[in-house]
Amino acid sequence: MLNVELLHVTAEPISHIARCARVSHRSEGSGSKADADLVRRLIGWGHLSVLEFAHATFLVQGLSRACANQLTRHRLASFVQESQRYVDVADRTLVVPRAVAASPLGARAEEFYEQARELYEKLVAAGVPKEDARYVLPIGAETRLVMNVNFREARHIIGLRGSRHAQWEIRALAARMLECLTREAPAAFEDLEVSA
Ligand SMILES: Cc1cc2nc3c(=O)[nH]c(=O)nc-3n(C[C@H](O)[C@H](O)[C@H](O)COP(=O)(O)OP(=O)(O)OC[C@H]3O[C@@H](n4cnc5c(N)ncnc54)[C@H](O)[C@@H]3O)c2cc1C
Repeated sequence: MLNVELLHVTAEPISHIARCARVSHRSEGSGSKADADLVRRLIGWGHLSVLEFAHATFLVQGLSRACANQLTRHRLASFVQESQRYVDVADRTLVVPRAVAASPLGARAEEFYEQARELYEKLVAAGVPKEDARYVLPIGAETRLVMNVNFREARHIIGLRGSRHAQWEIRALAARMLECLTREAPAAFEDLEVSA
């Protein structure tokens, strides 16, 4: 099951962004309200580069390889993903889309994955390297990764992947990212929303 945990975030991110931004504007003001108002104005003006001064690191678990493939297309984020070359992934479950589970063939998906997993285990036991045995695993097999992202890129990812055009799994991920970031830095994220 998808689990998104905020591992680390820039300390006092809104004040930090505002402090950096004031070097450019030489604007006066201090205190958390002035900082938050400034960050909201910067976002309104589209002066988003200052958001790059704050970062967040997420641990994402229980996502499918299909979803991870989409997420890692974001070139300005940094990733570490669990290696199927080195880690025995026989205990990983399958992410089953609701549409598949609800279809008359839903049970077949679990059955198919059990067979694939069993074959994987037998191949590894027979001495086939994990990096080769993994080829029999489907794209729905779960993985985990760490993503480090600056606030500008986080807004970009949430905007694109939280839209109704994005797939349900990455949309759910965008929603969890938005929840975490809005809690930590409301002024930088409160204007965003993720489609239901
Ligand atoms: C609904 C949806 C459907 C998609 N369908 C497909 C598909 O069918 N096939 C497919 O291959 N991909 C697909 N994608 C992935 C998409 O093409 C992008 O690769 C992915 O969303 C990353 O977006 P990005 O390049 O804007 O973001 P990032 O890589 O996160 O980059 C952020 C921003 O930085 C700037 N930037 C980054 N690198 C460069 C660069 N080299 N030059 C100039 N500016 C740069 C751009 O402004 C970019 O928007 C889909 C994405 C979505 C949201």
